[in-house]
Amino acid sequence: MQFIDVANEGVKSLSPYQAGKPIEELERELGIQNIVKLASNENPFGFPQSAIEAIQAQLLHLTRYPDANGFELKAVIAEKFGVQPEQITLGNGSNDLLELFAHTFASEKDEIIYSQYAFIVYPLVTKAINAVAREIPAKNWGHDLDGFLQAINDKTKLIFIANPNNPTGNFLSQQEIEQFLAQVPAHIIVVLDEAYTEFTRPEERIDSFALAKKYPNLIISRSLSKAYGLAGLRIGYAVSNPEIADLLNRVRQPFNCNVLALSAAVAVLKDYAFVEKVAENNRTEMQRYEQFCQQHQLEYIPSKGNFITIDFKRPAQPIYEQLLREGVIVRPIAGYGMPNHLRVSIGLPEENDKFFTALLNLLNKG
Ligand SMILES: *Cc1c(COP(=O)(O)O)cnc(C)c1O
Repeated sequence: MQFIDVANEGVKSLSPYQAGKPIEELERELGIQNIVKLASNENPFGFPQSAIEAIQAQLLHLTRYPDANGFELKAVIAEKFGVQPEQITLGNGSNDLLELFAHTFASEKDEIIYSQYAFIVYPLVTKAINAVAREIPAKNWGHDLDGFLQAINDKTKLIFIANPNNPTGNFLSQQEIEQFLAQVPAHIIVVLDEAYTEFTRPEERIDSFALAKKYPNLIISRSLSKAYGLAGLRIGYAVSNPEIADLLNRVRQPFNCNVLALSAAVAVLKDYAFVEKVAENNRTEMQRYEQFCQQHQLEYIPSKGNFITIDFKRPAQPIYEQLLREGVIVRPIAGYGMPNHLRVSIGLPEENDKFFTALLNLLNKG
């Protein structure tokens, strides 16, 4: 007997999540220092000072369980975004929330819709509960929302939309999202995953919390791992209709968010200067990446996130491996069905310089 034979039917089709290679691992393998990691869309500015101070203040309080209701953090989110605390669900990273949405609303054999090339956690949570994945072929690497509408049937329970999408960086406008929501039956839950929203320009950003008021079946999911720099602490939040939030909070593990994450999140959400600096660097450096690609005839997918996905028109794995030897970690995305692409997270200017130099070296070598 093998234990996979007795696993939940959906689990049998799962493969392990492929994370970006940790810096320490490459250091051990190659015995080199000064490695640049541009692989997991993390924040190149490191841990914000505001969060360090908040965490230090909590270090002697770790004996107690965290506040299961996250009162203080919910109050800060509510005030900052003009929503009610009853609309908020906190997650151990937004991945935790994505899983929670599936657990709360879908059962075995129900259908969950998402796009080809969309965030890999959607198929993961769908298969884990043995629901049926309806993966809609992408249009120009992005979501084909008309295709989504055509796929809706009696079994549809949940729809995932990543905006901007990872790993392609595609972005849907407010108008496209709203036209879509207006046509989705009111009992089907739509998740708008906005892990990268802080990197979009304020004038193009979607007023998603207003949409959540208008469409009670809409859940907005946000992360503090990217623009806010707290990836290692694991914290995210969802905003929805209070009735949905109540259901999510019943299924949620009561202490899913730890003391340090809760207090650091409170601090960084008030730290407007930090996020502004992060977004500004991203805008400037994204332009450098686009210019670099144009100069060297590299095709890329225009991105609204903190990463850019480059098409090498041939298997990208050898390029990834050569970059590793130069001390630069990027992200192969063959697991997404994109074997010719590499995803590169936008770093600090000097980190990006190192990537440009390393890539040019190896492309020139042929
Ligand atoms: C990174 C990412 C997330 C969430 O990350 P957490 O660290 O779990 O908050 C969610 N959605 C997308 C599309 C992402 O790229």
